[in-house]
Amino acid sequence: MESKSRIIYPFDTFCFCGGIIYEINCLRESLYCLPPDTLKWCSENVVYFSTSAFKTGSRLSRRACETKEIIILSDKIFPLSFTPSDKSTRFFIFIVFHETAHAVLKHQCMRFDKITGERKELQEQEADVLALEWFETYAKRNGFPILKKAEIDEYERIINQHIEISAQIQKKCLAKRIKQFERL
Ligand SMILES: [Zn+2]
Repeated sequence: MESKSRIIYPFDTFCFCGGIIYEINCLRESLYCLPPDTLKWCSENVVYFSTSAFKTGSRLSRRACETKEIIILSDKIFPLSFTPSDKSTRFFIFIVFHETAHAVLKHQCMRFDKITGERKELQEQEADVLALEWFETYAKRNGFPILKKAEIDEYERIINQHIEISAQIQKKCLAKRIKQFERL
């Protein structure tokens, strides 16, 4: 594969996943799927966090917020292993690409930049188009099927349902453990 010729980036300076090895590996492998120029730009201008990096909570430094594009990825979307032929990995790569596209295109947000809903929707479409373009280049280079918008929409729907259910289950499990702890 391409790994022999790929440039080594200091991922630990711009990718933060709370020390969870499989998450940092997934993120690194996804970023290597980007066009090389875009990856180089990201290594200098973007900071990626998975929510696992925050553990209980966190405040992002002002310097990082002022000088970098900050991308936060839910720990729920990380695939169990990075297997590019699997749907969950394909979806994960797409999400990394989509959020990166927002950064590259310098998109604004409704809450802080006061853009209209219409403008926001347009930006979402632009980010999808660029992310799908990057994905197509990567897929063709490696002999994987390209990604279709319908595939992403379906996977996103499943993930969103799962996030709500698993958040409830996790809360119940934690409450149970706290109760056990209180009985000690
Ligand atoms: Zn978006």
